[in-house]
Amino acid sequence: MRAKPFVLTPQWIMFDEFWISLKRRNRWLVYLRYGAAAMLAGFAAGAPLALHLRVETVPILMIAAAILAYNLVLHRLLQTIPTTHARFHGLHFALIQISLDIVALLVFLYLSGGIESPFFVLLIFHVIIGSLILPRAIVSTIITIAVAVMGTGTFMEFRGIIPHYTIGDFPHLLSSHPNYLVLSFVVMVFALYMSNYLANSISKELYQRERALTQAYKDLEDAEKAKSRYVMSVVHDLKTPIAAAITYLTLILDKTFGPLKPEIERPLERSKHRLAGAIKLINDILELSQVRLSGGLTTEKVNLTEIIHEIYDEMRIMFTSKNIRFTTWTNAAEDVYIEADPKLLKLALANLISNAHKYTDPEGNVEVHIKVKGDFVFIEVADDGIGIPEQEQSRIFEDFFRTSISKKRTTEGTGLGLTIVRQIIQQMHGSIRLESPSRLAREGRPGTAFFVTLPRILPDISPGETAKA
Ligand code: ADP
Repeated sequence: MRAKPFVLTPQWIMFDEFWISLKRRNRWLVYLRYGAAAMLAGFAAGAPLALHLRVETVPILMIAAAILAYNLVLHRLLQTIPTTHARFHGLHFALIQISLDIVALLVFLYLSGGIESPFFVLLIFHVIIGSLILPRAIVSTIITIAVAVMGTGTFMEFRGIIPHYTIGDFPHLLSSHPNYLVLSFVVMVFALYMSNYLANSISKELYQRERALTQAYKDLEDAEKAKSRYVMSVVHDLKTPIAAAITYLTLILDKTFGPLKPEIERPLERSKHRLAGAIKLINDILELSQVRLSGGLTTEKVNLTEIIHEIYDEMRIMFTSKNIRFTTWTNAAEDVYIEADPKLLKLALANLISNAHKYTDPEGNVEVHIKVKGDFVFIEVADDGIGIPEQEQSRIFEDFFRTSISKKRTTEGTGLGLTIVRQIIQQMHGSIRLESPSRLAREGRPGTAFFVTLPRILPDISPGETAKA
């Protein structure tokens, strides 16, 4: 099917990343325009003083004021434009702002010498910006209108129908060397169409490549999800016979079927312990697969302070039985709220806090600090436990990785907890890092601290949609 030339939204831009980068470019143009208005005003006021050139100061200042005025309106409008293609979308906005700029530039060109203006080349700059955003046919139409206006204006100036303005008081070329000016005009027109063609071809190719990459990434994600689903079903099926074996072992160890010889009791205890470890591994794999499979987050306003207290309440016995002191601190005057998936946030923090407990010797300390700064919340989970050797720190978030010290000390642990934590934090657009020794370090207890940074409000991917990982 032949593409319609005047469609503002051709098929090749129908992918989310295009609309996100369009929003960025539109915003960038609005910010840039404040500078342009200031430079124009500076030129109108400064050229006579600094360059000793007479210019149409008042009318040019009026153009600068007009640019500022429409830019303020555009700036306000910018906040309301949806990222996805609605009735009025980013491309309409881009078309409006680029057209307004061309009109302002044409008036400025007229006042600064028309076809003789040294600012003539700025048209090329505008065409390139337009071609990076808008379809080629639309920019060609804008060029054609601009060229027609310039041509007609020049002809009317040449015939004396409208006045000819110049910068400085030089004898103007329009009356003495019209052919020279016609030549430069033709070169300029050629340059405008060529710039549009080249810039648009390059940007279209780049968008198409980005789209192909996005698709490839999505296909990879789908393949990863299919794998996770397969792992989940296999692992889930393994859980049932292991759970049954634990139940039988428990019944035997509880002497339900009669007394047990101590030499049988001990290996049975060990088997039960190993099977319980297998169940923990299965549960971790299931949890991780579930986190990986959940494409979108269901977010709500969550009381972070409360979640941490809830986690501690559920682990209180574990902490008191090892006599580990658990303290919390925050710089916020009231409870801290963030936008998050409550279940996943609790799962991630519970993993960090239970690790702090697990890898800290009796009589130790675990501290959770919550610091609110700007749009972010910083959570630190620190302990004075066994620590993590420096050379192993870079591998700590890898699947199944356990440090050499922890492997020596305990057989418990799957090495999947931190993978789950990092996956969740990334889905929430946050980050995690660690330090060891921690600030709680003391003799023989280096300790570890995990630092989580989370946005308090999730970045706006597209209004009305759930944030995606
Ligand atoms: P698990 O604790 O089940 O082994 P994790 O993924 O939660 O798995 O942790 C991975 C490894 O990181 C642990 O085995 C341990 O070696 C190390 N680790 C995690 N948290 C701490 C901590 N607070 N102090 C010391 N080592 C830790």
